[in-house]
Amino acid sequence: MNVSNYFDYNATTPVDPRVLERMLPFFTERFFNPSSFYRQAGEVLADMEGARAELAKLIGATPDEILFCGSGTESDNLAILGSARHKGSGHIITSAIEHPAVLNTCKQLQKEGFGLTILPIDSHGFVSPEDLKKALRPDTILVSIMWANNEIGSIQPIAELAKITREHGALFHTDAVQAVGKLPVDVEAIGIDLLSFSAHKIYGPKGLGLLYKRRGLRLKALVFGGGHEKGLRSGTENVAAIVGAGEAARLLSAEMADDAMRLRQWRDHLQEQILAVIPQVLINGDQEPRLANTLNISIRHIEGESMLAMLEQFGLALSSGSACSSKSLDPSHVLLALGRAHEDAHGSLRISMGRFTNETDIKQLLTHLPPVAARLRQISPFWRNQQPQG
Ligand code: PLP
Repeated sequence: MNVSNYFDYNATTPVDPRVLERMLPFFTERFFNPSSFYRQAGEVLADMEGARAELAKLIGATPDEILFCGSGTESDNLAILGSARHKGSGHIITSAIEHPAVLNTCKQLQKEGFGLTILPIDSHGFVSPEDLKKALRPDTILVSIMWANNEIGSIQPIAELAKITREHGALFHTDAVQAVGKLPVDVEAIGIDLLSFSAHKIYGPKGLGLLYKRRGLRLKALVFGGGHEKGLRSGTENVAAIVGAGEAARLLSAEMADDAMRLRQWRDHLQEQILAVIPQVLINGDQEPRLANTLNISIRHIEGESMLAMLEQFGLALSSGSACSSKSLDPSHVLLALGRAHEDAHGSLRISMGRFTNETDIKQLLTHLPPVAARLRQISPFWRNQQPQG
């Protein structure tokens, strides 16, 4: 598949052609509503349930613990709002580097009267289990900490955080939108209550979110209607997307480990070369464990947006910060939480690779990035002020 010069896999992945092929009949001859009575509908229902089982297997859950909804964002909302509103009151803990789908949802609950603590991260991008222990209160009902960060790729100590939360008697939710498909995830082994992920980050289609909800756990619905998904998410299921996501999960079970090995080598190669050729580069989220596909750098004294625009002229597609906030000129809240100065957060580039990245892409990036940085620095007053006057 030809997806050349694309370095924004954390924003979205292309649909794998094998996934698309599996989906196509569900738009045409197999269009039936899985809730209908007749044989063809029953067959569609069976395919949908097969996909649920594949998705459950990918994260170590059982099929009845997987709920379908409209996006990763909705999954985060259902987990957080649904569990908190079911409890009625109490205190919630999250971290400063969450995706807006979690941060803004927790802030909404704060407006509704819930207590909220936002944990900081250290200068490498990690939440400290000690900080979590200190933040827990007798009335803490929910802790929501992301598994892996979309901007810098830092992987949180999820097993430890979940264990501390469980021992305290609160629920543990994790936004695993960037973890599922990139890392082995086993909800049972780790003891997670709620986990959110999204089909379009795992080579499936956009518009499908998945929520793992531990068996027996109660949530309040956000959407009301015909009672689909055990009454927790009414609305006729997006069958083609679900079947596609099931196929995407099946492929990942076989291919994920090899993909990660290849991407890690390229990530490390890119990092080494960039540091060797461009002076004054900061690696944001510089320590393991971090996602094998993600490299986030700040090229000091130049603007990330200008770099993006110039790289785009060579057909290179990257992000500065996350896709959802890259339209705003505010510096990334993740980089600020990491302790970066505003100017350095503004000069950041996120390079995220995936299944269809190849060696030619890497060479293209390494060919164009250093001269782009050098040209922008020539016209940067901040850079010129730094240079010794001759
Ligand atoms: N959480 C994280 C960590 C993400 O990276 C994203 C998407 O970028 C989301 C949640 C939202 O997922 P969706 O785009 O499916 O709503």
